[in-house]
Amino acid sequence: MTVPQALVSIRNVHKRFGALEVLKGVSLDVARGEVICIIGPSGSGKSTLLRCINALVPIEAGTILVGVTDVTDPKLDRIALRQRVGMVFQQYNLFPHRTALQNVMMAPVQVLKQDRRVVEDRARALLAKVRLTDKADAYPGELSGGQQQRVAIARSLCMQPEVMLFDEVTAALDPETVKEVLLTIRELAEDGMTCLLVTHEMNFARDLADQVYFTDRGVIVEHAAPAELFSAPRDPRTREFLGKVL
Ligand code: ADP
Ligand code: MG
Repeated sequence: MTVPQALVSIRNVHKRFGALEVLKGVSLDVARGEVICIIGPSGSGKSTLLRCINALVPIEAGTILVGVTDVTDPKLDRIALRQRVGMVFQQYNLFPHRTALQNVMMAPVQVLKQDRRVVEDRARALLAKVRLTDKADAYPGELSGGQQQRVAIARSLCMQPEVMLFDEVTAALDPETVKEVLLTIRELAEDGMTCLLVTHEMNFARDLADQVYFTDRGVIVEHAAPAELFSAPRDPRTREFLGKVL
């Protein structure tokens, strides 16, 4: 029997901001090809956890491995890590004076120094994948929020990451554009991309996640397959939260 090896392995992670302990011993594994959703009240440390994985914030204790890369290694190659770990935020922050295509191409060309023509082919294919073929030459200001977010997803994918982190990527969108972004993520997951998502979209989590983690005040209260967590939560804190959002 082969034990599935975790692509992202988080062990007993502690993080504080001054006096505030934001992560109090968090452990979580993401296997290759898995889709993990993190849910929980605002302020429970979900964004901080994702930012720790990408080494955007340092941790005080515990370990985070992405493949064989130790994210806490002082000699960590951050550029290499961030190439392998894509991250998409609520605020898509596209460059306003660059077209959609230029936004998608920028990091592989400028940071990874990849060949411009190779990157352009890949970028166009990714814009097609997120259903924005006809918007390649549009500027962000000419696109809806949902379209801009899909450009941001294509931009992240153009780095050819092994795992994608999504932090409430639909939270700032108009309701009618939320669906198209969720569809993009669904297709990505169905293609086998490893995904770790923080989301308030409970139906999406229920449909797509292999495991759902419920967090509260810096701890993982429980995790289970979505059918189990949503229909039979074990902890009263999970029940209370789900009672409010479902
Ligand atoms: P969530 O994403 O679950 O809403 P966050 O990870 O954003 O939670 O925040 C968890 C706690 O950490 C909050 O109390 C927040 O105010 C605090 N926090 C987050 N980032 C910082 C920071 N850079 N400096 C100080 N406090 C922070
Ligand atoms: Mg957050």
